[in-house]
Amino acid sequence: GAGSDGAPGEIRWMRVNTLRWTVEAAVEWLEKCGWEMFEDVQEMLAAAQSKPKVFALDAHIEPLLALPAAVSLPTISAYQDGRLLAQDKASCMPAWVLLMPALLDAEERAEAGLLYVDDEDEDEEKKAAGGDAKGKGKAKSKGIRVLDATAAPGNKTTMAAALVATEGINGRVVACERDQGRFKVLKDMLKRADAKNVQPMNVDFLSLKPDDAKLKNVTHLLVDPSCSGSGIPSRLDHLLPSAPEDEQLARIRALSNFQLAIVSHALRFSGAQRVVYSTCSIWEQEDEGVVMRVLAKKEFREAGWRLAPRDEVMPTWERRGRVEACGGDETIADSLVRCLPEDGTNGFFVACFVKDETAAPIAA
Ligand code: SAM
Repeated sequence: GAGSDGAPGEIRWMRVNTLRWTVEAAVEWLEKCGWEMFEDVQEMLAAAQSKPKVFALDAHIEPLLALPAAVSLPTISAYQDGRLLAQDKASCMPAWVLLMPALLDAEERAEAGLLYVDDEDEDEEKKAAGGDAKGKGKAKSKGIRVLDATAAPGNKTTMAAALVATEGINGRVVACERDQGRFKVLKDMLKRADAKNVQPMNVDFLSLKPDDAKLKNVTHLLVDPSCSGSGIPSRLDHLLPSAPEDEQLARIRALSNFQLAIVSHALRFSGAQRVVYSTCSIWEQEDEGVVMRVLAKKEFREAGWRLAPRDEVMPTWERRGRVEACGGDETIADSLVRCLPEDGTNGFFVACFVKDETAAPIAA
């Protein structure tokens, strides 16, 4: 199968909240509590037939564990106190894809004894050094600032926060949520996850000015806007229709326009280097359709935006974008990720745009 991780509804995905714990400590703790670890999710599922307390490490996303779906969350104290978070595997992909290159880069820098220098720290240093921050063995590099455009309830925000909290990055996250009720839920989740490096804002993302001086440090954006939710299977019905019903089409078209507006706004942020777009929809109009509409815009081509290649976007995940929905372009389809319930996840879609400032603008 396509990186298949089992039938729908068999797995309870749990993300280790590395703001409060480590994967090693989680494994050790689970084993001490009588859980048996398996190397492989399929093996874990087979063993779950006869033994309830089994788990496996995910093959694609580092801080992710697979448990049998039948597990009772209230009985797991590490879930109660926010060291483990219940988050679908597909929902973990956007932050992972957004920040993977930065994490690898930080690892290399750490090995070479180099560190990121946060802009604000750098200013402090300059002052202290009388206008010269050089000569301390620190490499000059821009820090990582994430902006989550559509954040509540905060699953992807807190994962991004955990990833950039890594030593050597020490990044920060700004999280926007327009809806007041959902903003409260977001703040609760930040507290539960102990995400102190996140600044939540109860604001309409579209009202932010992409050239605002306060936002010029934003380098990475998460765009996970409201969608039809057609990828979330109801418990009784695992069979999803392959196209929206006629009466839904107008609604899907309106959602697609809204999603295009949000991702376009993200691409206009002056410091943006990497933007991940995701939905929990399986409809092409909200997925490849939005990506193709972005790629068709001269404004973005000229600014150097292109799709990140497959080797930066879950390279070992087999289910990719639909070629027919990408105008027959296999390279485009290959750089996109799709998930279906038969992969052991919700139905989901991920695309990653990167800015190649060295690329010559494409002539119109
Ligand atoms: N990323 C979230 C997570 O993983 O937990 C889920 C995000 S949900 C699919 C989309 C959210 O975007 C909703 O909470 C919605 O209220 C919010 N939203 C929609 N339009 C927005 C806008 N223009 N500005 C800010 N938030 C918006």
